[in-house]
Amino acid sequence: MELHTPFTFGQRVGNGTLFDLSAYLSQANAWLSTGRNTMPYQAEYIWMDGHQPTPMLRSKTKILDNSVKTPPIWGFDGSSTEQATGDRSDCMLLPVFTCPDPLRGGKNILVLCEVRLAQTGEPHPTNTRAKCAETAKKFAAHQMIFGIEQEYTMMRTNGRPFGFPEEGGEPGPQGPYYCGVGAGRVMGREIIEEHTWACIEAGLMIEGTNAEVMPGQWEYQIGAADALTVSDHLMVARWLIERIAEDHDVVISLAAKPQKGDWNGAGAHTNFSTKAMRSSYEAIEAACEALSKRVDQHVNNYGHDIESRLTGKHETAPYNKFSFGVSNRGASVRIPWQVARDRKGYAEDRRPNANCDPYVVTQLLLDTVCSNEKTPAKAAAKKPAGKKPAKKGKKK
Ligand SMILES: [Mg+2]
Repeated sequence: MELHTPFTFGQRVGNGTLFDLSAYLSQANAWLSTGRNTMPYQAEYIWMDGHQPTPMLRSKTKILDNSVKTPPIWGFDGSSTEQATGDRSDCMLLPVFTCPDPLRGGKNILVLCEVRLAQTGEPHPTNTRAKCAETAKKFAAHQMIFGIEQEYTMMRTNGRPFGFPEEGGEPGPQGPYYCGVGAGRVMGREIIEEHTWACIEAGLMIEGTNAEVMPGQWEYQIGAADALTVSDHLMVARWLIERIAEDHDVVISLAAKPQKGDWNGAGAHTNFSTKAMRSSYEAIEAACEALSKRVDQHVNNYGHDIESRLTGKHETAPYNKFSFGVSNRGASVRIPWQVARDRKGYAEDRRPNANCDPYVVTQLLLDTVCSNEKTPAKAAAKKPAGKKPAKKGKKK
C-alpha cells in the first residue's frame, strides 16, 4: 500500500495554510513500509497556565496510536508554567473538549484540557472552568446562552502595533480602519483569513469577523452557546490565532489598552440571554438591574487593566459607573434596538476586556442574572392546582 496525492506538492489547500504534503506522504509511506497498516496521529493538548495578571495558553503534542479513540489524561511540569513548585511539580491535564486540528489536518486533533492536581485529581487553583461548570449545572434550567466578540491587536515582535508604520510614528487617526478595505487601511488580512478557515474546519462556532477601529486590531465572534461550550470554543480559537500568527512573526495581543493615546482598547463584549429574556423584556431589564448591584465583583474580574480601557471614551462607559440603555454603545450594558422593539431577546455586557477569562465572565453572568430570576421549574410549581396549562401554540 502506498499513499498518493491529487495535489501539487506545497500548494495552498483548504484553509490557505502552506502544507508540505510531500514530506507528510513520505513520512506516511515510510511508516507503512514497516509492515504496520496503521499510522499514529498527533494530539495537541492545550491549557491555561498560571501566569499573572493574565494567564497564557500553553500546548504540547502527544503522539497517539491509531487505535486510540479518546485522548487520555496527561501531565506536565507545573513548575515551568507558574502552577506548581519544583518539589511537587506534576500537574494533570484532563481532556474536556476535542476537535479536528485544522493546521495539521488528517486525523490529528486539538485537545483542550482542564488543569487538575496530580495528587487528588481536584481542580487546580488556576482552573476557572471547573467553577464555571458547577455554576452552569446549578442554573441549567435557565438555559442561559452567550455570544462573545473577541477583539485582539496584532503586534510586531518589537512591541509596536502591526498597523503602525515600521519606521516609527503613528498612522492617521482612527476613522477609516473599522471594517475597512484596501492597502493602508487594513493590515493582517492574511492572518485573519487563515484563522477563520481554521476555526470553520475545526468545527468551532465562529459567527463572523471584522477589522476594528484601531489599525491592526481585529475581532471574531464565537457563539451562541452555553457557558462551557462558548468558552471552550473561544479558548481553542485563541490558541489557533496565536499559532497561525506565529508563522507570520506577528504577536497576538489581548491587552486591554495596547496603545496609549487616542486609540481604542480591545474588549470582549459578551452577549447573553436566559430563556426568560428570550421571551420577556421585563426579564432583560431585571437582568440589567441585577448587574447594577454587583458592579465591582464583575469589573474586578473582567480582565487586567480594565481601568485603562473603560474610561468613558472610545465607545466605553466608565468602569466604576454602571449604566444600561437601548442602542447605547457608551453604556456598560447595551440593549440592541431590535430587542427593545421586539420586547424580547438579549443584552450585551460591553465591559469584559479582550484579555478576560471567558469561564469567569460567563460564570459571573450566570450567577448574577440567574440567581435573580425565578427558575422555570419553581415558577411552574407555583401555578394554582387544578388550573389547566395553556395549550401549546395558542397565545392569549
Ligand atoms: Mg468590536
